[in-house]
Amino acid sequence: MCGNETKYIKEAVKSGKISGNGYFTNKCQQYFETKYNFGKCLLTSSCTDALEMCALLANIEKDDEVIMPSYTFVSTALAFVRRGAKIIFVDSKKNNPNIDENEIEKNITPKTKVIVVVHYAGVACNMDKICEIAKLHNIMLIEDAAQAFDSYYKEKPLGSFGSLATFSFHETKNIISGEGGMLVINDPKLYSRAEIIWEKGTNRADFSRGFVKKYEWVDLGSSFLPSELISAFLYAQIEKADIIQKKRINIWEKYYKNLKRLEEKGFIKCAEIDKNCPTNGHIFYIICRNNDERTKLAKYLLDNNILAVSHYLGLHKSPYYKNQYQGQKLENCDKYEECLLRLPLYYELKTKEIDFICKTITEFYTKNLKV
Ligand SMILES: *Cc1c(COP(=O)(O)O)cnc(C)c1O
Repeated sequence: MCGNETKYIKEAVKSGKISGNGYFTNKCQQYFETKYNFGKCLLTSSCTDALEMCALLANIEKDDEVIMPSYTFVSTALAFVRRGAKIIFVDSKKNNPNIDENEIEKNITPKTKVIVVVHYAGVACNMDKICEIAKLHNIMLIEDAAQAFDSYYKEKPLGSFGSLATFSFHETKNIISGEGGMLVINDPKLYSRAEIIWEKGTNRADFSRGFVKKYEWVDLGSSFLPSELISAFLYAQIEKADIIQKKRINIWEKYYKNLKRLEEKGFIKCAEIDKNCPTNGHIFYIICRNNDERTKLAKYLLDNNILAVSHYLGLHKSPYYKNQYQGQKLENCDKYEECLLRLPLYYELKTKEIDFICKTITEFYTKNLKV
């Protein structure tokens, strides 16, 4: 909490309207539409919900194929699996955990319906190449931009490339509402159906505008919209977004500067810097040389009261999906699963604490050397 969160929640309560699609929901949606030039934005209860809406809007049917990275959160796949899709997992890149754009085309078949990209750590995938592939093969492109709030590819906002894009405001993300998410609809042909799916399969939105006479059940859908209490909280965060972003990017850069020497010595690899795909300060990670070293480093940090954690387990090897996965070994995905370590990164983190964390990591490697 860093501003008007409770004030706006009180206002929502006082207004007597706390169900969804009210004043604060519209304020949030308008902010994103205007600031980032997104098509239409609809707040959802989570990014998972927004992904479920994507699977409905893409008309996923049994045995349709959906291409995505394996190194991602379960929801990216789950939403499509629930509609009967077969997931074609693709490896990550060598130099970062994003989907390897050069591995996509060979996985396209006549059954491929959607390509989902995930901008890991808020760092953009290679959108020039991926948009070109999607266009050439006439396949719908969806961005799981859960971590990519206020992030850019060649200065164009992430979330504006796909026909659809999803964001998360879960409390682990940059701007938050506890649970919360958003669907971005950039393809105008999908606007009206998205609204129907959002409102439990009814034409309620058009009805409120006086466009239709009857309020009816017209399509599939669910209760995807958040209450005004959630939107009120989110709106307060949005007001502070510039401050939050500046702070997080600053922390990210401090880590990078402090740990670069360990990278130069070959002990670790830091998250990369690429001016076309700048960080939005969502995650700072390092890559250890092997799994054993990561385990030892994490333990050493924990002994010093520093919580550094690994991230995803490849979805293609998960207990739920492994029997359905017939593809090959995904080597880079395995590497990130085994060797990636996230360092603490949150709004309140102090410079002193960053210095201590970096000092402790350095200590670990120099001590190790002497053994
Ligand atoms: C956080 C996250 C999600 C899920 O977001 P929720 O809002 O918790 O549903 C999905 N995909 C990615 C890549 C995420 O990081």
